[in-house]
Amino acid sequence: MEIINPDGRDYHMHSLNYSDGLNTIDELVIFAGRFGLEEIAITDHSDAALKASGLAMKTYRGIVQKEGRWQNIHNDVRVIFGVEGDILNENGDICDTIQGKEGDFLVLSLHKEVYQGDFSRVTEAYCRALEHFAAKIKVLGHPCIKAPYQQHLDIVAVTELANQLGVAMEFNCANLVNEKTDKKQEDKMLTRAERVYVNSDAHTLHELKTARAEGFAFLREYWYQR
Ligand SMILES: [Zn+2]
Ligand SMILES: [Zn+2]
Repeated sequence: MEIINPDGRDYHMHSLNYSDGLNTIDELVIFAGRFGLEEIAITDHSDAALKASGLAMKTYRGIVQKEGRWQNIHNDVRVIFGVEGDILNENGDICDTIQGKEGDFLVLSLHKEVYQGDFSRVTEAYCRALEHFAAKIKVLGHPCIKAPYQQHLDIVAVTELANQLGVAMEFNCANLVNEKTDKKQEDKMLTRAERVYVNSDAHTLHELKTARAEGFAFLREYWYQR
């Protein structure tokens, strides 16, 4: 298993400006620099997730789009504006936009509040989405999150298809520290995944500061015990 970002790069976090993070983009960038990160992707939730959760839109997306008005004036952290997209149903339809615009880094996840399909067919949902959109999916977000549908998710099949299509799997640190990981599923994923991103999925500065370190400590112990 190759960890794509063992260094100071984190490709999954949320801001106050575009979804459900506690901190603004500028706060995230300032503290990312302070905590030693070199590159971050701010991957706010998709239009479908915002609609499902009733979260308010606070800032126009155009401000941070390519050649937009936002620039990092704080430090040398490279900032990517991505999207945490949603798998919508067993046909593999997805929503990967914020205010109708795609981002520069797609974490594709399945959220039970947003998914509109048949939960007994989540394996098909993942596989069809992978087949249709592998070219733009950078990583499958928290595939091992604790959820009632996990009993229907064939994580081995999804991981093997992702390997075949060159899509990475995510080791999600916020899920780990918040005890939201289905450990049995994660074990199956980690033993098979060829490429893995270790991402914070930070919604707070505390998570941005500590979650990745805890994730790597867990992974060291995990491989040591095997
Ligand atoms: Zn998520
Ligand atoms: Zn997230």
